[in-house]
Amino acid sequence: TVRTRFAPSPTGFLHIGGARTALFSWAFARHHGGQFVLRIEDTDVARSTPEAVQAILDGMNWLELGHDEGPFYQMQRMDRYKAVIAEMLAAGTAYYCYTQPDELEAIREAQRARGEKPRYDGRWRPEAGKTLPAVPAGVQPVIRFKNPLDGVVAWDDLVKGRIEIANAEMDDLIIARADGTPTYNFCVVVDDWDMRISHVIRGDDHVNNTPRQINILKALGAVVPQYAHLSMILGDDGTKLSKRHGAVSVMQYHEEGYLKEAVINYLARLGWSHGDDEVFSREQFVEWFDLDHITPSAAQFNTEKLKWLNAHYIKQTAPEVLAADIAQRLAQRGVSVAGGPDLAAVIALYRDRASTLVEIADAAAPYYAALQISDELAAQHLTDVARDALAALAGRLQSASWDKAALSAAIKETCTEKGLKMPQLAIPLRVKLLGVTQTPSIDAVLEVFGREAVLQRLG
Ligand code: GLU
Repeated sequence: TVRTRFAPSPTGFLHIGGARTALFSWAFARHHGGQFVLRIEDTDVARSTPEAVQAILDGMNWLELGHDEGPFYQMQRMDRYKAVIAEMLAAGTAYYCYTQPDELEAIREAQRARGEKPRYDGRWRPEAGKTLPAVPAGVQPVIRFKNPLDGVVAWDDLVKGRIEIANAEMDDLIIARADGTPTYNFCVVVDDWDMRISHVIRGDDHVNNTPRQINILKALGAVVPQYAHLSMILGDDGTKLSKRHGAVSVMQYHEEGYLKEAVINYLARLGWSHGDDEVFSREQFVEWFDLDHITPSAAQFNTEKLKWLNAHYIKQTAPEVLAADIAQRLAQRGVSVAGGPDLAAVIALYRDRASTLVEIADAAAPYYAALQISDELAAQHLTDVARDALAALAGRLQSASWDKAALSAAIKETCTEKGLKMPQLAIPLRVKLLGVTQTPSIDAVLEVFGREAVLQRLG
């Protein structure tokens, strides 16, 4: 059965690249009816924080990438790693190495001088018939994995194709430091083994770790999973995606008013395609997703496309459904929608032209908050002529029936009476009601706003 995992290191946020890896691992498990495991790789104690763990969980929750098992924390599995190391020492697939840092540096120096690649020379590696150096007093040894000397490690990467590395290229990896703590690559191996991971889907920054991990898995007699290394994500300008390109954390997209549906759809297309399909639901994605249509070349992040998708999904979402989110955004700004016009009706006025929920919240806020019309705006638009016309309009609105046709008629009649063109009344009216010069059709705005609120603002 298919078992995938997402194994973030909690040193920051759930960023776009991590979210894409999580999505692909999740979708692959879902597509095949398998399990998705969440594992927190927190052994870098200096850089891992509980806040970062929470940020990752928040991001995955928001995107609804639910895991079936975990979260497992590597720091809670130390005993297990140590037990496996003890087994390997006993089995002769790992050994103590007493080489000191300065000694190692001298070895490398000599290798460089000879034009060789600097590497550990295996002086403590036990071999039949070989005499090991005398154990130095007072030295805490590291533990190294006994990497095969000949042959190649090969795997058919599900994204990159066949990859082969000669064992002669690899030295004996340290699997436990002098203080006994297991090293990164080793923990990953034990976890993937214990968690019975069938497919390792991860960023291709880990591709160099894979041959080492495969060798250790083989030494443990473990089933070697299949690997799919996802190409990296570049920013709009073709350089590695980073803070400079905008949001770093997936949750920042939430704050900036992106719908999770849009983010999921967008991430799905970052390095994966299904014909010409650009817009599809999460369910459709799970149904289509497999590893054979992942592009081996780097994917390019495109903020405009994400915005476009977001606008699409906003348009598809009922105003009543958006209302909860918008009310919350307004509340964060200290604006309460209680007692004001129907929020869903206000949203409906703006939904089709917005590309983020923040834009909708910006447009909705003046319907509920006390208005501050700037002096500049007032001087330009609330002239004596305009004020006189607004007063006349207010008179008509006292008794007009409150529907778009009647409201539109009241505006037109006021214009005729005062000898004004439509914008000469409509713009001052917008300024007076909402503090802006542009809105959707003014009769629709009046209708939604309601008689009482309109007359109050015109008064
Ligand atoms: N913890 C690693 C990272 O965050 C992922 C390791 C893996 O997927 O094997 O980059």
